[in-house]
Amino acid sequence: MPDSALPLPHSTTPVTWHILGAGSMGMLWATRLTRAGLPVKLILRNAERLQAYEAAQGLTLIEDEDAQQWAIRAQIPETDEPIQRLLVACKAYDAEQAVAQIAGRLTVNAELILLQNGLGSQQAVAALVPQARCLFASSTEGAFRDGDWRVVFAGRGHTWLGDTGQAPAPAWLEELQRSGIAHEWSPNILSRLWRKLALNCAINPLTVLHDCRNGGLQAHTAEVQTLCTELASLLEHCGQPEAAVDLGLEVLRVIQATANNYSSMHQDVAQRRRTEISYLLGYACEAAQRRQFEVPHLQQLHQRLTRHLQQRGLPCH
Ligand code: NAP
Repeated sequence: MPDSALPLPHSTTPVTWHILGAGSMGMLWATRLTRAGLPVKLILRNAERLQAYEAAQGLTLIEDEDAQQWAIRAQIPETDEPIQRLLVACKAYDAEQAVAQIAGRLTVNAELILLQNGLGSQQAVAALVPQARCLFASSTEGAFRDGDWRVVFAGRGHTWLGDTGQAPAPAWLEELQRSGIAHEWSPNILSRLWRKLALNCAINPLTVLHDCRNGGLQAHTAEVQTLCTELASLLEHCGQPEAAVDLGLEVLRVIQATANNYSSMHQDVAQRRRTEISYLLGYACEAAQRRQFEVPHLQQLHQRLTRHLQQRGLPCH
């Protein structure tokens, strides 16, 4: 058949990216997708936040000291408009409630991308919307807000996405490629999330308790290694042996490579923000308890951290 006789591909309207939560990660994704010409809509907390956003006239992405503003459309959760693709960019402790607010808007073939750190919130969201396909993501990108509706792209990284149901990669990954969002499809995303959770558990709480940068843990390597040994046994016990391989070595490497940085949990405590403790150390301790597996050092660390947060008047869950 000559080329001219080939049927023309259907011109399909691209699916809108609804983004729930315009914090650091939500803004980082929204601005890059918009820059690539893709349709994006932000879902903000309430009418008050929407009004503040409209007054600011858009989101500003600061990348390599260059600031650019993007006028992205925004709405409130109660808007009467179907959602086919949703990026959940809230903190782990807000994700379930935020998704519950928009659950009635999800189409039958809806897909959710869950960006939350740690574990536990993803499973809670997936149980809430069983009709939707939930993809879990793990990202090493770094971003922070330097003002309302402004995000600084602080650290280039990579995002792994995957499906616990072993379904194939979605075709829209190409849109991430086009948007310059470095990513990879992960056939075992749970293993990746467990590995990151273990790294977080070995480093972050101790940086809070010793009030130090990551490099400060070089003075506490025995304590770090004891935790790594226990975490590695827990991972194996939870059916995640791959995530346990050379955990102690990687933790030491991360401590060295990020010696000058303050961990995200240290930053949260220093800025008197709620931490994601329940989805990191809390999740690890609960997973151990469910399997009647002894993790005395992790449990003691959890208790010390909980006390530390309570003494500072911060939420400890
Ligand atoms: P963030 O800056 O605190 O942003 C969270 C956003 O969610 C806030 O803008 C918040 O709104 C919004 N939100 C909460 N409940 C909502 C609701 N019901 N409806 C609408 N919006 C709602 O947090 P983040 O740093 O982007 O982190 C998000 C997740 O990504 C976390 O699990 C984090 O661990 C993970 N992560 C972050 C980074 C990073 O570098 N930032 C890197 C990797 C992974 P308000 O603005 O109104 O409070």
